[in-house]
Amino acid sequence: MSIHIDIVTAERLVFSEDADIVLVPGIEGEMGILPHHAPLMTMIRPGEILVRKGTEEFSMAISGGFLEVKPDHITILADAAERADEIDIARAEAAKKRAEERLSSRTAAEVSGALAEAALRRALIRLKVAQKRRQRRTVI
Ligand code: ATP
Repeated sequence: MSIHIDIVTAERLVFSEDADIVLVPGIEGEMGILPHHAPLMTMIRPGEILVRKGTEEFSMAISGGFLEVKPDHITILADAAERADEIDIARAEAAKKRAEERLSSRTAAEVSGALAEAALRRALIRLKVAQKRRQRRTVI
């Protein structure tokens, strides 16, 4: 028994596989979705998506989006999404540094550093997903 998951952005199909369970960063916390889940539509937060199938595990970074669950099919419409093997670590490190610099040079007069905070969050998620894959490969 499995559930199919498609992760799509405006530009491309990022991931399409059958899964035993899918872990998604829901607006109200982590959600585990199994086959025959009740139909559902909700927003998702920036974070990591984990897909488990047998002994395999796939990890993806997602910058938020929309989740639709049907009993045998999950669709995630993502603002941006990358599989762990696609993440450019140097690019994410540079984005993290830029966002940190923007946040630290913020003056008290500036109302919000929300854009820099969001950019920092995206970079940290990408680094986490990519580094986890690296560690796993080292073990193997
Ligand atoms: P940057 O400042 O490096 O562009 P960003 O967080 O502003 O990062 P996004 O706007 O979230 O980037 O994404 C723009 C596009 O670039 C998307 O297609 C996304 O998948 C891709 N992308 C962003 N960062 C990376 C990365 N480190 N590795 C691979 N693809 C990335």
